Amino acid sequence: MAEIYYDDNADLSIIQGKKVAIIGFGSQGHAHALNLRDSGVEVRVGLREGSTSRAKAEEQGLGTGTVAEVSEWADLIMILTPDQDQRKVYSESIQPNLTEGKALAFAHGFNIRFGYIEVPEGVDVLLIAPKAPGHTVRREYVAGRGIPDIVAVEQDATGGAWDLALSYAKGIGGTRAGVIKTTFTEETETDLFGEQAVLCGGMSHLVQAGFETLAEAGYQPEIAYFEVLHELKLIVDLMHEGGIAKQRWSISDTAEYGDYVSGPRVVTGETKKAMKDILSDIQDGTFAQRFIDDQDKGAPEFTELRETEAKHQIETVGRDLRKMFSWSAQAIDTDYVEGSA
Ligand code: NDP
Ligand code: MG
Ligand code: MG
Repeated sequence: MAEIYYDDNADLSIIQGKKVAIIGFGSQGHAHALNLRDSGVEVRVGLREGSTSRAKAEEQGLGTGTVAEVSEWADLIMILTPDQDQRKVYSESIQPNLTEGKALAFAHGFNIRFGYIEVPEGVDVLLIAPKAPGHTVRREYVAGRGIPDIVAVEQDATGGAWDLALSYAKGIGGTRAGVIKTTFTEETETDLFGEQAVLCGGMSHLVQAGFETLAEAGYQPEIAYFEVLHELKLIVDLMHEGGIAKQRWSISDTAEYGDYVSGPRVVTGETKKAMKDILSDIQDGTFAQRFIDDQDKGAPEFTELRETEAKHQIETVGRDLRKMFSWSAQAIDTDYVEGSA
């Protein structure tokens, strides 16, 4: 059974007694920095020279500095830049300031799990990973609620790493909802698998294939969009509330029967075999290496894939149709610009 911690299991005064550097002020960065500050923690934000995020952080009344400056100042350094940039940010600006007794924290275990970042012995290494996009982490905190986090300790140099991780989780509002104990390995491998096989990769390509099948058969693309993409949210909301069982309870008997007989024709034994291959590429580092090698070359493969996928017909059809739904628009990430990929 999972070990779960709540507000009563965490001591906020531990993190309140530390100087915390948040590196990056993006999706997670702004949420961690603002939630901790509002929980009475001393926070500074570390940014690169010329960062467009500096003004945003300062507007919120947060102190800023270069990554090196805030890392030197801090007791705990939370790295919230994109995973592919962390290795460079770490070696250039953080490592030289990582003296014994400090703590280095992450919201995703990628760089530790695959060995791209190696931390000196005397430093605590923590993971506090909220299970939601940063903008939701901030919004829920402000509303007096919290997003569940998963927490792990890779290195407990001071003997206080677990208490520190839980205290940090309390500071960002996580223990209001509940915090589950994990390891860097489990978090990294399951996170990558979930996003690749199901949540992002699996879902995007399932929707595209369904759309293409209807459009190629001569149905109107607008109708195809409604049937395979727009209605997805209604189904996912039901699953989120009460599992697959509640979703099946709510849909028509026709839809439910179709689920049982046709679902296994789409997701077959071969699909499951492909999922196992994806998992083993994650576990043995093949995926990580492919991603990082491409990033190191300036991301040619990533850029090409992003541009090709953004041109899919479902995107142009969707852009126009969503205007009809402006009344229901509930933007989650307010920085997103339509069509920016
Ligand atoms: P973002 O892409 O939103 O981070 C952007 C921020 O990083 C900006 O402030 C940017 O500054 C800064 N940045 C980028 N490159 C550098 C650099 N070389 N040096 C210094 N600062 C830099 O990241 P996310 O919030 O999406 O992800 C951060 C971490 O959180 C990752 O480990 C991710 O896996 C994890 N995570 C993310 C979730 C999410 O909701 N997105 C959910 C759970 C975990 P500038 O203004 O200068 O561009
Ligand atoms: Mg992820
Ligand atoms: Mg229907």
